[in-house]
Amino acid sequence: MKIRILGAHNIESSSTGCTSFLIDDVLAVDAGALTSGLSFAEQRRLQAVLLTHYHYDHIRDIPALGMNFYLFEKTIALYATPPVYEALTAHLLNNVLYPNFIERPPEKPAIRFMTLETGKTETIAGYEVLPVPVSHAVPTVGYRITSPDGKQVFITADTGPGLSECWKRVSPHLLIIELTMPNKYESSALQHGHLTPALLQRELESFREIKNYLPQIVVMHMNPLDEKGIKAEIAAVEKALGIKIRFAREGMTISV
Ligand SMILES: [Zn+2]
Ligand SMILES: [Zn+2]
Repeated sequence: MKIRILGAHNIESSSTGCTSFLIDDVLAVDAGALTSGLSFAEQRRLQAVLLTHYHYDHIRDIPALGMNFYLFEKTIALYATPPVYEALTAHLLNNVLYPNFIERPPEKPAIRFMTLETGKTETIAGYEVLPVPVSHAVPTVGYRITSPDGKQVFITADTGPGLSECWKRVSPHLLIIELTMPNKYESSALQHGHLTPALLQRELESFREIKNYLPQIVVMHMNPLDEKGIKAEIAAVEKALGIKIRFAREGMTISV
């Protein structure tokens, strides 16, 4: 499995994109930098997009993707839980801000929306996909994605602490986990459902306790304005746990 990071951060600039991942060129997770990160030819190869939750930094490229597929005269499959469908159709694809590409053109809509149920595995673009609820300010799922050759990645999505139930359901080779802000903002992280390096350390300790191992770890959704402080704090976590933690960055490809 080859995971390409199109967007690795929580805010956008010319050098940072909002979170978006591409698996083996065909399956995308979140749309924070999906159209800006892919050529038209690459977008045409997409078979499905999974959305973790409806916060703007994760769904922002869906209207643009809808327009592109409308003009490609193709259909893209979009998978998410019902709250994401409600928010997308009420606020973005509402025929006011932009056309509702889930219904347009009527004979062959540009977006085919497929509802996912948490805890229920589906086969999507040849991968086994399990949406696992995580702990964020709005209904959010992480995705356990298993390739046909048995490689597994778990992408947590935005989440705060309390992932022990989640760990029981996954055994990934690669864990892509959120890390948004430095330790000094712990109360804000707890309030909004995010992780700091210290909170991340506890979640990884809980993973190791439950699963008896730690997978490859890549952190994403970092606030680039706090990069220096976060990196210093992560160095302490690496030392405490005796592991290596990699930072997601735009353009990076990880093989599992
Ligand atoms: Zn986010
Ligand atoms: Zn969020």
